[in-house]
Amino acid sequence: MNLKEYIKIVPDWPKPGIQFKDITPLMDNGDAFRYATDQIVAYAREKQADLIVGPEARGFIVGCPVAYSLGVGFAPVRKEGKLPRETIKVEYGLEYGKDVLTIHKDAVKPGQRILITDDLLATGGTIDATIKLVEQLGGVVVGIAFLIELNYLNGRKNLEGYDILTIIPYD
Ligand code: 5GP
Repeated sequence: MNLKEYIKIVPDWPKPGIQFKDITPLMDNGDAFRYATDQIVAYAREKQADLIVGPEARGFIVGCPVAYSLGVGFAPVRKEGKLPRETIKVEYGLEYGKDVLTIHKDAVKPGQRILITDDLLATGGTIDATIKLVEQLGGVVVGIAFLIELNYLNGRKNLEGYDILTIIPYD
């Protein structure tokens, strides 16, 4: 199955010059969504992940069916002020300014084998921050899975030393 057929490129969104990769047609198609999810499930099984962690919001969409399929948990990483109990936080740089990601302090147990999921790898900033949260709680990042990788942004260099699966590359 050629999953690229299910990604719509939206020119100049959310701002001029950005070619946004819209994953909603892939999610909208049961066969395509399952085909993509099954590849991440196989990867997570190979890495013996025992918890999936994903940043809001599309990291949830990619990660939750993987967790369900494996029978392991899912822990959300969210913007500041969204999680109701005690959290830890990490600041990370955006193109302009800064943002903060948080995770519940008890979401990851020391030594747990963590698979991180998100829809797309661009610069790697979001996942670098997610790794820091997981590691601060003592988790071991055994793999990172994306639907899409923008190869030309070379986000992998920010995630050096970690094992990465991407399903749909863009050169
Ligand atoms: P990074 O932190 O790697 O620079 O950016 C990746 C994050 O931004 C991901 O969480 C992803 O959801 C979002 N993102 C950036 N560009 C796109 C895009 O073209 N399509 C989608 N679906 N998400 C994007």
